Amino acid sequence: MTDISFRAEAVRCPHCGAPVHFDAKIGKLCCEHCGTVTEPEDINIKEATTDEAAKSAHYDPGTGDIASFRCTSCGAEMYSSGVTAALSCPYCGNNTVVPAQISGEFAPDYVLPFAKTREEALAAYENYRRKNIFKRFMQPRVFRRTLSTDDIQGVYVPFRLYDGTAEAEASFVTYDRKPRLYTETLTGTLEFENVPADASKRIGDDLMDNIEPYELSELKTFSAAYLPGMLAERPDEKKDIDEERAKKRVKKSSVSLMKAELNHKHVEEERSGKIKLGRSVSHYALLPVWLLTTRYKDSIYRFAMNGQTGKFIGELPMSAKKTLALAFLALVLPIVLCMAISTELWAIGLTIGAFVALAIVLGVFWIMQVKDTASVWDADYYIKGKIRIESHTEKENK
Ligand SMILES: [Zn+2]
Ligand SMILES: [Zn+2]
Repeated sequence: MTDISFRAEAVRCPHCGAPVHFDAKIGKLCCEHCGTVTEPEDINIKEATTDEAAKSAHYDPGTGDIASFRCTSCGAEMYSSGVTAALSCPYCGNNTVVPAQISGEFAPDYVLPFAKTREEALAAYENYRRKNIFKRFMQPRVFRRTLSTDDIQGVYVPFRLYDGTAEAEASFVTYDRKPRLYTETLTGTLEFENVPADASKRIGDDLMDNIEPYELSELKTFSAAYLPGMLAERPDEKKDIDEERAKKRVKKSSVSLMKAELNHKHVEEERSGKIKLGRSVSHYALLPVWLLTTRYKDSIYRFAMNGQTGKFIGELPMSAKKTLALAFLALVLPIVLCMAISTELWAIGLTIGAFVALAIVLGVFWIMQVKDTASVWDADYYIKGKIRIESHTEKENK
């Protein structure tokens, strides 16, 4: 186990030297003391030395290595996840960036600046928590407290974006009216651009898939000056795992586009399709996410908002106590009502009550399982031009 210390460079106001932060509303850096507004291009941050970049490349967060960050403003030592690329110093309040984590092999090509503010993220969370009356009643008390903007963290999540051409091949058994079946084999090419795969292990893939799409035409050439005030991380996911994810998405899109070209209405069977990625290039970009994490009964519940578009996704647990109370009420109420009318009806009341109570318990457990998130995504949003079908053969099955 090794201990590696990184330089965390404080980003200061060019006018008075106080801490600055990136303001999503105006897309510029704001001084917290004198209010001076600075264009990101006008901020100079001392770049990493080759030694520092090598240290970062050598450092492996998966092996239990410890990383510390030394604030260049006050000299304090901070500890954080070993993939941290920007953080705020708890001692002097300066927003810092870590040059070693954004240079060499970890130098991002692009950054997509935050367009939604912390206040907008908090408002979206409150709206989500309250919009469904049932969820609002059933959520555990810990979720009902009013949060402050400090509970929400702005994170630049590392993403790999894939450009290229996919050559796809697939066979389908199709029919118009049974029993006449046909086999149709199609090959085609598909061009795609910026298919994203998040390169962070810490942040759930499905959470990130669900806040897509990002409007990636607004990507800016990377500059560390966009980072102050946010947390940023460098990739810790392996490249081939990300490429596999991007490929899966492209495949899903190609298959559905091919299906649209079939000569017969119905698909009886989909034979395994092949996909080959040719000329695939990956770029590395930091994309903006507002994150909120709540702990409840040993599980962590995350809420995420797309920092560019404001698309919001989350999971909310149901209180177990409230579920049982509701079920008990459902059991007892029919019996009491029946007994009030006639003493012989109580048996019917007991039966009805038991069924209703059971239904409530099962219903709530079902809702607890259903999350607002879904996984396995396609790449439809990132297709450049339609698929070109190059060959299409059809034969009647005997
Ligand atoms: Zn200032
Ligand atoms: Zn400091």
